[in-house]
Amino acid sequence: METTSYNGKLLRINLTNSQITSESLNLDLAKKFIGARGLGTKILMDEINPTIDPLSDDNKLIIMTGALTGAAVPTGGRYVVVTKSPLTGMIACSNSGGEWGAKLKYAGFDGIIFEGKAQSPVYLSICDEKVELKPAEALWGKTSSETEEILKAEYEKSSVLNIGPGGENKSLMAAIMNDADRAAGRSGVGAVMGSKNLKAIVVQASRNNIPVTDSEAMRKEMLIAMKKIKEDGVTGTGLPTYGTAVLVNIINETGSFPTDNWQGSYDENAEIISGETLAEKYLKGTYHCHRCPIGCGRVVEREGKNIGGPEYETLWAYGGNCGVHDIPTINEANFWCNELGIDSISVPCTIASAMELYQKGYISEEECDGVPLTFGSKEAVVEWTKRIGLSQGKLGALMAKGSQRLCDAYGHPEFSMSVKKQELPAYDARGIQGIGLNYATSNRGGCHVRGYMISPEILAHPELLDRTKTEDKATWTKIFQDLTAVIDSMGMCLFTSFALGADDYANFLNAGTGTTHTVDSLLEAGERIYNLERIFNKKAGMKAEDDSLPKRLTEDSIVDGPSQGQKNHLNIMLPEYYAARGWVNAFPTEETLIRLGLEENDRS
Ligand code: SF4
Repeated sequence: METTSYNGKLLRINLTNSQITSESLNLDLAKKFIGARGLGTKILMDEINPTIDPLSDDNKLIIMTGALTGAAVPTGGRYVVVTKSPLTGMIACSNSGGEWGAKLKYAGFDGIIFEGKAQSPVYLSICDEKVELKPAEALWGKTSSETEEILKAEYEKSSVLNIGPGGENKSLMAAIMNDADRAAGRSGVGAVMGSKNLKAIVVQASRNNIPVTDSEAMRKEMLIAMKKIKEDGVTGTGLPTYGTAVLVNIINETGSFPTDNWQGSYDENAEIISGETLAEKYLKGTYHCHRCPIGCGRVVEREGKNIGGPEYETLWAYGGNCGVHDIPTINEANFWCNELGIDSISVPCTIASAMELYQKGYISEEECDGVPLTFGSKEAVVEWTKRIGLSQGKLGALMAKGSQRLCDAYGHPEFSMSVKKQELPAYDARGIQGIGLNYATSNRGGCHVRGYMISPEILAHPELLDRTKTEDKATWTKIFQDLTAVIDSMGMCLFTSFALGADDYANFLNAGTGTTHTVDSLLEAGERIYNLERIFNKKAGMKAEDDSLPKRLTEDSIVDGPSQGQKNHLNIMLPEYYAARGWVNAFPTEETLIRLGLEENDRS
């Protein structure tokens, strides 16, 4: 076999009959879809009927490393989880850093396909080639950190991936956790793992590197990339100093920082929950994922112990969106998201929707069971986070299904600030036009990291676009979405893209896998992945009208701050975007599918 950064091996675990098989990876297919997100989507597409119930035994949980996960590239340690989402009913692809992905690669596997459902709770242990399913009754009900502690005590120098009670209870916002506080957080992937009675995967590996096709070319590109990352203002200074929370003040100053469930867009108290305040008063250290020179992870203290600190999205979601301007409270709520294994974006955004329902009299005092859902209540955000994670009480169990199902149940779907039933992140798309187009067309629903238009619209990377205008946003959104699909599939962190260009990623991938990508062919590979996800969604029942934004963003103007008076003009951008993609009514034309070599995948 040619030397590449792929191991050439997949694990298949049938949980129903406990059968464990190791099978060869089709290298041609791997190269066509790169790895991780792309390859995982292709396998899911080939192996399940997209119309199945996501929480049934028929769904598969695919955990896949990237083409360069484990290789000597900056941030090259990521893995993705691909499955059918119980939250959106469409494709789920959630990725995470830490050490776990690299460990799996070092143990000798490119990915794991879980199918069926175990009779009772189990965990998977991988010690290099030795792979075993073991009983996990004693772990069931434990929080994420408790599970990790128990398994790490038994498996020296291991890395642990697990679900908390959120996944066990099949909260549609359940995450998969690894390495303490790293999370594949979005789209309810933890609920799929819980539905299979799979509690954890512990990995031990003797190796700590993998071969690549051209190590000299890899070394050269590594030196170039490290210099660029160190010299760039975002990756060299902003993220290492303040973490992603560096964005609190920046976004607020544009008047695009949603408050009180997006009723406002400018937060007079943003400074209190900013990255600067976090760094000055609460920061105990920083965290670096595998081979990461940036180190955006925050470390804060709770009850005398160091724990993971909040990201920008979490500071905003509890801070601006729920009105709690208190970092210790946000740290506490974030801690419970991690312990219970639930998404620290969707959960506080669902609480914010519930707060608006309560504010307007649709949720009663009695239903709040002693903890009123009042905007600004410190007690409410912590307590309702726990109730959601534990699916506790009638309202807690309903809220565990996410904001859309909650608001539908109260007859006010307009209070769910979501796309395709997944809660929107921290940028008001009325003040920043292109991010709205990205939200609307994201294959996994409301999400910023499928095509991070904040880069050109706010941070001037690679150049500054006028955030208030719709011109050129369609083509830029397509490029960002396609490049992101490539980076996710390579197993690198999206944050490197502030400093690196498509040429750098092509050089890395070619050195690692022996491909001969140009910038154009690399972006086309990303486009292929994006279109494949779209075909999955079409087969799963997606309709053209699902590419939309909450009415509040397209019909109601911003009422306060520097972007007052603005709305999102999705109606102008969407047709331009479909034209740029070669899509009609939200789906690829036959001509586009043929160009991308995907025509077989669209057959029913
Ligand atoms: S930049 Fe942050 S999220 Fe990305 S790999 Fe580094 S520490 Fe992890």
